Amino acid sequence: MKKLSFTTKILHRGFLKKDPHGSLHMPTYNNVAFEYESAEDIELAFQGKKPAHMYSRISNPTVEHFEQKIRAVTDAVGVIALSSGMAAISNVILAVCQAGDNIVTSKHLFGNTYSLFERTFKDWGLETRYADMTDVGNVSSLINDKTRILFLETITNPQLEVADIKALADVAKAKGVLVVADTTLTPPYIFDSKAFGVDVEVLSSTKYISGGATTVGGLVIDNGSYDWSKNSKLAPDAKKLGPFVLISKLRQEVYRNLGACMSPQNAAAQSLGLETLTLRVDVSCKNALVIAEFLESASKVKAVNYPGLKSSKYHEISEKQFGNKPSSILTFDLASKEECFAFLNKLELVRRATNLNDNRTLILHPESTIFCEYDEATKKDMGVRDTMLRLAVGIEDEGDVIDDIRSALVGI
Ligand SMILES: *Cc1c(COP(=O)(O)O)cnc(C)c1O
Repeated sequence: MKKLSFTTKILHRGFLKKDPHGSLHMPTYNNVAFEYESAEDIELAFQGKKPAHMYSRISNPTVEHFEQKIRAVTDAVGVIALSSGMAAISNVILAVCQAGDNIVTSKHLFGNTYSLFERTFKDWGLETRYADMTDVGNVSSLINDKTRILFLETITNPQLEVADIKALADVAKAKGVLVVADTTLTPPYIFDSKAFGVDVEVLSSTKYISGGATTVGGLVIDNGSYDWSKNSKLAPDAKKLGPFVLISKLRQEVYRNLGACMSPQNAAAQSLGLETLTLRVDVSCKNALVIAEFLESASKVKAVNYPGLKSSKYHEISEKQFGNKPSSILTFDLASKEECFAFLNKLELVRRATNLNDNRTLILHPESTIFCEYDEATKKDMGVRDTMLRLAVGIEDEGDVIDDIRSALVGI
């Protein structure tokens, strides 16, 4: 049979167990505990010898179905759904690293991820080294024998920087370092992480996947490409578990013990979101390009940054990695912070809110909001200017959004 498309696989993924009523949607298993036929069965379940759900913090049929749908479209060796994108990131790092290790990443990071590295993990003895991801030599020079992870975001936010992921992965691979990519802005339909050398994807399914900001959630997607004998902490498991080291470490220890599981209700909402992911990605990316081109032609706008624009210095690498769908986030600069605020206050359709890949178009002034806790020097390092606005484009008619922006630009 011909290879099925992304959405066909999502829509027609079967259940692991036949539903007694023939339900087309996986029911929401709103329960905590599961019972067994016999004492022998419960013993086998606890020993991991007979696959069975035991307790919904560890696994649940509705959450498992959502994980299986993601596995069907990624060919990953394992997928774990968590309570949030931040939970996905922290679970992977806690599973892979120990005190004294370091992570190589960039300062161009989602704000809470930067805070997680710089504050939360620092206190437990994990060092973070910041590189320029667009300079492979610089990244290579920061990796040493204590480096456990090269952590990158596929499109950074709000800088919208796009690194050459294959080139970075080649360097990491040569040094035995695990490549973890935050693919929130470019989920599996957009970006084939395996083909570009990423070992593990972590992402916030709150954004594109949830179906228009319905629920908070996160995913760990393990491509199974890393040789775990190269990680000093996990090497003892590598012989026995092969490519399943991380998934097993998470399910049987870190994910279970930290308790940041996805709820069955959120899994049901996100499974539904996943069914329309490709439609929403296609429309929002098309809208983002049209709106970016309009902004480039507007006289009040000083600069526009969107990897889909021919004028972007990342256009070529972005097209190679994400085709014509480089997410739907763009930034643009006005003359001053005052102009940005005046513009924000004049908008009538576009919402002032912090989220990405909602169904609605959202706008934010990053410098005064998500980056307000950082000093001037850090903001400069992060490429966050007070003249910059971030537009997260939705799926409205793009003409309506352009009309709103055009009117708001008049007289500021
Ligand atoms: C939102 C976001 C996160 C965090 O996800 P939550 O689901 O809010 O915890 C991580 N990385 C990126 C790039 C994000 O945009």
